[in-house]
Amino acid sequence: MTSIRIVDLEKRFGEVIALSDVNLSIEKGEFFTLLGPSGCGKTTLLRTIAGFHRQDKGEVWLGEERVDELPAHRRDTGMVFQNYAVFPHLTVFQNVAYGLQVRKLPKPEIERRVSAALKTVHLEGYEKRTPDQLSGGQQQRVGLARAMAIEPRVLLFDEPLSNLDAKLRVEMRDEIRAVQKQLGITAVYVTHDQEEALVISDRIAVVSGGRVQQVGAPWDIYKDPENLFVASFVGKVNLIAAELGEAAGPGFRMARAGSLQLRVPAPEGFDGSTVTLAFRPEDAVEDPQAEAGNLVSGKVLRTSFLGTVAGIVAECGGSTLIVDRHHPRAGDIPAPGSTIRLSLPTEGLMLFDPVDGARLRPAMPGRTAGGAG
Ligand code: ATP
Repeated sequence: MTSIRIVDLEKRFGEVIALSDVNLSIEKGEFFTLLGPSGCGKTTLLRTIAGFHRQDKGEVWLGEERVDELPAHRRDTGMVFQNYAVFPHLTVFQNVAYGLQVRKLPKPEIERRVSAALKTVHLEGYEKRTPDQLSGGQQQRVGLARAMAIEPRVLLFDEPLSNLDAKLRVEMRDEIRAVQKQLGITAVYVTHDQEEALVISDRIAVVSGGRVQQVGAPWDIYKDPENLFVASFVGKVNLIAAELGEAAGPGFRMARAGSLQLRVPAPEGFDGSTVTLAFRPEDAVEDPQAEAGNLVSGKVLRTSFLGTVAGIVAECGGSTLIVDRHHPRAGDIPAPGSTIRLSLPTEGLMLFDPVDGARLRPAMPGRTAGGAG
């Protein structure tokens, strides 16, 4: 069942087109994230759903009700803000009760809802404290409890974790997701942090320049990006300017970049010759078998140790490539200047149009999966 529907939405601030041609359908109970860089329009979209901004064009639907003409307080949404937005002079109880008192609910009902919300966010026993007696994480829990207590149709999160330290961010994002799933409530979550988006979301909309670039499950967004923006914004990626050459078996072409010669899936319906070739750092295979496809060798420029992964930057045939080595052990990370041998399997290679950034797909998706590489 659809919980939120955005139709042809456009929003301008003077000359700035903050949102353009936005169409989204968010399912009931879904954890849906708006992901994009600073200034891309994600906060404007969230605020337009909440009713804090009025769109210039388009429609916002919550369930069966069109709400884009309604004021914010009549849309029945709960918002959790980046800066917590808790009232400093009120106690935890009063903060969470605030929206219920405004709605003039009976006292026992207010007490029941506040107590249930505080229990859900693990703040029982903190009712009498004021925000200055709470940590940042606890203040954000109060913000979450306050939004939940009004039992809204949807919960909206505006970068709720960006003021917290790295460890707390991880704890809180797990908690937010657990609470959302426990309540079964639809959530729209804004972040510029791609790792946070991948971990927390059922689906992600990647936004850039006021437009939705791609909507999909985290895995699809990462593994099957629609364009160069999505490929480079979500996760690390190697990008190589290459020239398409002769056919290399049915459905395949050769591509050249410097002295690299790689067998790639032949793009369908593309008559240009220059492409941007992309692959994820984990898709390169180190020390491959002699019969593996797309063998390249190069020199290690530098390495970085990141715990479970070592990042290797190497110069290969005129291109600078990043490659991940998983489960690195001490003494196992190649020294700068040493030789590295790689296979870049055809099925891990993606092609993009360098002019408009669009993904260039092979004739039959999946056909390359069994490709000899
Ligand atoms: P951030 O992550 O930095 O918050 P964002 O993706 O949420 O960025 P928005 O805040 O939605 O981006 O802004 C989108 C565009 O609209 C930006 O160019 C911004 O400068 C502009 N903008 C946002 N609010 C206003 C406003 N009240 N008046 C004028 N321009 C605005």
